[in-house]
Amino acid sequence: MPPIDPRTVIVLTGVMSGLMSLVLYSLTRNYPASIKGLREWSAGLFVLFLAGALTAVRGQIPDLLTITLANFLLVSGLYLGYFGTQRFFGVTPRPAPWLVLIGLMLLGQIWFTHNVPNYYARLLMVNVVAAALFGVHAMLVSRRGVNTVAKAITFGVLVFMALIQVMRMVAIYFVPISNGLMDTAPHHVIYITSFAFATLLFSIGLVLMASDKLHREFEHLATHDSLTNALTRRRMNDVCQQELHRCRRNGGNMALLVMDLDHFKSVNDNHGHQAGDQVLVNFAAKVNGMLRQADQLGRFGGEEFLLLLPESSLDDAVLVAERIRAVSAVNPDGISCTVSIGVATNNTENDTVESILARADSAMYRAKANGRNRVETG
Ligand code: GH3
Ligand code: MG
Ligand code: MG
Repeated sequence: MPPIDPRTVIVLTGVMSGLMSLVLYSLTRNYPASIKGLREWSAGLFVLFLAGALTAVRGQIPDLLTITLANFLLVSGLYLGYFGTQRFFGVTPRPAPWLVLIGLMLLGQIWFTHNVPNYYARLLMVNVVAAALFGVHAMLVSRRGVNTVAKAITFGVLVFMALIQVMRMVAIYFVPISNGLMDTAPHHVIYITSFAFATLLFSIGLVLMASDKLHREFEHLATHDSLTNALTRRRMNDVCQQELHRCRRNGGNMALLVMDLDHFKSVNDNHGHQAGDQVLVNFAAKVNGMLRQADQLGRFGGEEFLLLLPESSLDDAVLVAERIRAVSAVNPDGISCTVSIGVATNNTENDTVESILARADSAMYRAKANGRNRVETG
């Protein structure tokens, strides 16, 4: 088998980076601005493309471009990738130390290319900075976000690349290469080739992480009310159906609370629609702050909310309802608005979500009829 030619691999890696940069760039145009980091990822891959293009012509144009500038671009591209991932996960980047490190590396590259030519020193510097960047990048990915296949791919590639840098430093120490970058020694070829695979797999990992995030954002939009962040009516219906099935299987209890703000129209009339909106937001936040993990708050429309309390008896639910009523009635910092609450639980085998809801709803209307700012059961 003929030896693998490092130059060909470098060209392919560069082309791959360029193409993946285009893919990520197209995502920046199609994805909402809430998905951050795509632009930096795309720019990072483009810089790696430039680094690859320059490295591929080593020996044919001045070393200043193919060594000094190419190595500088290589670590800059890796840093841009890390910067993008920080933005993607909502971490504020702190570039100063990295810029200093990359700057020092650039000076070192110039020194060991033009003043005291030393291939090993140059290589060691690039490997140390690259290993550090792959390492912190891997740690960042492992700590943030939801565990998905995309995250596992991205993390795996970064750990692999960090290890490759370390192995390379050790291998070169024991088995030096004689022809510099274009040497065909196996450990050198493995190092060069690893970049080709890593670029592709890493870019795929990024694209998948971005699309996972987009998917989660859409799902959130479809299931949450944009004003109060309570669940939408449709989602609330699904959650209640699931809970009732669970109750039927396990013989448990669930409670539904229908909560309607009192004289809310006059809040709008007296203070304006925006103030009314704020009252709704505050109410949902207050209720959410009082709930257990499994409890679910939904907005049924207008100023009417539904609360599902799994594994709760009627007495438990009335206690919760009373607490909500009491905290709503006092609002020293803003506009006060009381709430009327109807409570119902599943009673019989034949109860449906609709029948429980109907009882809770008529109990709520009784609370209104009996003077508002009250809790009634049905
Ligand atoms: P009651 O005590 O009988 O419930 O009286 P109410 O005024 O609360 O009830 P009504 O159904 O007459 O009025 C509800 C008002 O809620 C009317 C509507 O303009 C207002 N509303 C509905 N959705 C929103 C919203 O998203 N924001 C604001 N600010 N107001 C809303
Ligand atoms: Mg009302
Ligand atoms: Mg109403």
